[in-house]
Amino acid sequence: MNSKELFKESKKYLSGGVDSPVRAFKPHPFFVEKARGSKIWDVDGNIYIDCCLGYGPMILGHGNIKITEAIAKQLSNGTSYGAPTENEITLAKMVVDRVPSAQMVRFVNSGTEATMSAIRLARGFTKKDKIIKFEGSYHGAHDYVLVKSGSGAATLPDSLGIPKDTTKNTLSVPFNDEEALANLIKKQKDEIAAVIVEPVMGNIGCVEPKKGFLEFLREITRENNILLIFDEVITGFRLSKGGAQTYYHIVPDIVTMGKIIGGGFPMGAFAGKKEIMEMIAPSGNVYQAGTFNGNPISVTAGISTLKQLDQTFYKDLNKKGNFLREKIAEIIEDLDLNVNLVGLSSMFQIYFNSKKVLNYEIAKQSDTAKFLVYFKELMKNGIFIPPSQFECNFISCAHNKEDLAEIAIAIESSLKIAWNK
Ligand SMILES: *Cc1c(COP(=O)(O)O)cnc(C)c1O
Repeated sequence: MNSKELFKESKKYLSGGVDSPVRAFKPHPFFVEKARGSKIWDVDGNIYIDCCLGYGPMILGHGNIKITEAIAKQLSNGTSYGAPTENEITLAKMVVDRVPSAQMVRFVNSGTEATMSAIRLARGFTKKDKIIKFEGSYHGAHDYVLVKSGSGAATLPDSLGIPKDTTKNTLSVPFNDEEALANLIKKQKDEIAAVIVEPVMGNIGCVEPKKGFLEFLREITRENNILLIFDEVITGFRLSKGGAQTYYHIVPDIVTMGKIIGGGFPMGAFAGKKEIMEMIAPSGNVYQAGTFNGNPISVTAGISTLKQLDQTFYKDLNKKGNFLREKIAEIIEDLDLNVNLVGLSSMFQIYFNSKKVLNYEIAKQSDTAKFLVYFKELMKNGIFIPPSQFECNFISCAHNKEDLAEIAIAIESSLKIAWNK
């Protein structure tokens, strides 16, 4: 069956034909045959250079040989024990060595679980109930945070099925808006447990913090006995060895991780100061548990991944990112387009928007119809990016110079068609 037929079949058995909503782009998604390095093959015989990369995890490209070998060895020793392993200590130590805010770690199964648990922990530690998030930020699909949430949708209707009693404790303010946050905290500081933030907003495209904004967050939370949670599910191990906190030199109280940390297998983690982390069961009274927590396969893949992510790796990857963004900037200038190229390190996006995007409100004003034309043209030219203006594009170390040149050429011709140039 080809992708079109598979999607028709899939819709009979899987709700919406997919297992996660952003995958269901029109007229139908491609079904994957395999992926290797920087490339992904569909069942219809097309090959794409992959700039979606599993929405972030595959920073070493697909089928990394060292991970594959490590996993193969672990597979023959069993895949789930319900008892601890030395490898969990090894990976936790690697996280603690790299990530400034991490003194102790708990491994979970996804980014969603990581933020859910981190928020419970912050509430338990501070004995307060409210949290503040930023409009358009995405912290996974659980009830506490599906309020004015990003993740691929321009305007996500708040989900049905979430009791108002749950979300009344979730407040939100615009990103990069110090005054709005200060006002909110002033009014309710005795009730606010935590501020949770994506240091770079990767779920409405790619929005960087204004200079001084993260410093401001650090100060105002400290002054008001509020915990600062960095949701580094995207930025962790991507922006640098220690994630966004090392890149921007701001140390939060709790950090959540996911995506890259599992080396392509399901995993998440949260970490923080010892005195906070020790409140988690069994050493403390904030409950957190999971059958697959610290899963031997995911942990093995995580160790192999982090081992490969050294300083040289980031230097090389960031150079590739800079090279690609420079090429794209030239193209945009030559075509004289009123669009906005954003990104840093190995992340990039083009906002079909003439304004500088500082927050969700501005991001939403982008021309999504034109963006979809651009997305489809890129596919025709053999480049796969997430099918939304409000997702981030990634590159991996497996993307070589030829791949990057090919991406730039495809972007040029796709922009031309989207903008009738
Ligand atoms: C992807 C993502 C999550 C959710 O992680 P899952 O593993 O999909 O549950 C949470 N926060 C951010 C910033 C993310 O990008």
